[in-house]
Amino acid sequence: MNWNDKTAANVKAIKPSGIRKFFDIAAQVKGVLSLSIGEPDFAAPDKVLAAMKASLDAKETSYTGNSGMMELREAISHHFEQRYGVHYDPKDEILVTVGVSEGLAMALLAITEPGDEVIIPDPAYVAYPASVELAGGTPVFVPTYPEHDFKLTVEALEKVITPKTKAIVIGYPNNPTGTVMSAEELMPIAKFAEEHDLIVLSDEIYCELMYGDAKFTSFAKLPGMRERTVIFNGFSKAYAMTGMRLGYVCAPREGLAPILKLHQYAIMCANTTAQVGGITALKECDDDVEAMRQEYDRRRKVIYKGLCDMGLPVFEPKGAFYIFPDIRCTGMTSAEFCEKLVQEEKVAVVPGTAFGDQGEGFVRISYAASMDTIQEALKRMARFVAQYRKD
Ligand code: PLP
Repeated sequence: MNWNDKTAANVKAIKPSGIRKFFDIAAQVKGVLSLSIGEPDFAAPDKVLAAMKASLDAKETSYTGNSGMMELREAISHHFEQRYGVHYDPKDEILVTVGVSEGLAMALLAITEPGDEVIIPDPAYVAYPASVELAGGTPVFVPTYPEHDFKLTVEALEKVITPKTKAIVIGYPNNPTGTVMSAEELMPIAKFAEEHDLIVLSDEIYCELMYGDAKFTSFAKLPGMRERTVIFNGFSKAYAMTGMRLGYVCAPREGLAPILKLHQYAIMCANTTAQVGGITALKECDDDVEAMRQEYDRRRKVIYKGLCDMGLPVFEPKGAFYIFPDIRCTGMTSAEFCEKLVQEEKVAVVPGTAFGDQGEGFVRISYAASMDTIQEALKRMARFVAQYRKD
């Protein structure tokens, strides 16, 4: 049988992930120092693991309700209100999902009709355009620029808005750039969303990983935004629980209902044991999150200084665990730089172009790696840049 003929056209049209392709190249080189991974190098907090083990010992292996355990939704509601100042009713405004990944996919399926356009900043997380396409919509990229630390501006949005625009995806702190947008900087975007009656899909997965004087503002906290915003968050990054696949969606009840409808048929419910871990994470693990955040912050400072010392233009990232230096002084493309760096110095970083055309000339470096790895990788990178720089 010809499976290619039978595969859905919109699935075939999706480009393979630029990150995956680069991982495959790096995997062929032995003894690579990797600064390419977008996940914590820590394990989940011990208290989370203990709660999950106890739950399994008690043979709690059944489904939960479709929306997730009420105790977890209550904990999410409490946490979100305490920390970010927005209230969501645990009864029908919070849905527990299989990571932010599921939340995004279901939300886009719930709102997208053929011909709908969804605005996505460029560069951005790789799953956004793919999820829009899979939902039958058209991703429309809005460029962000290094001169503005890759912050989204209304001037750029004005150039891409059309009558077909249904929604805009935003994600700060940002993957791949580490950019954070303050409440003041987000305000014009909120006004723009209101003027054009857009849904805002706000991926806030890195909100606990903020540094220096930067302060996180949930998009739903901005005046008038709660009613048109869908918040995505989860346990993968702050709690180092990537493999447990646990996240959540918060939205006003009329916005959440169609997402829940899809979730209940496609997924049924998030993993029960992971949900038990999530309750403990929110109720008992603030200290663990803070300890990991402080360690990322130490690494962030080392890597920022290291890149500045080797003469690469770079802005100081204020969130997540990524930094996005400009490598144009080498005259190489992002992909050439990454391939040569891994082959000659055995250091793996990701081409900026994996995240969009605006990433050309930049590479994403993750500091979710040990300090020893970071220091040795910086040494090798400095040697590499000194050898190839053209200016
Ligand atoms: N959103 C962003 C911006 C990410 O960087 C990632 C993972 O790298 C995800 C979502 C996926 O999160 P989850 O593990 O909750 O599915």
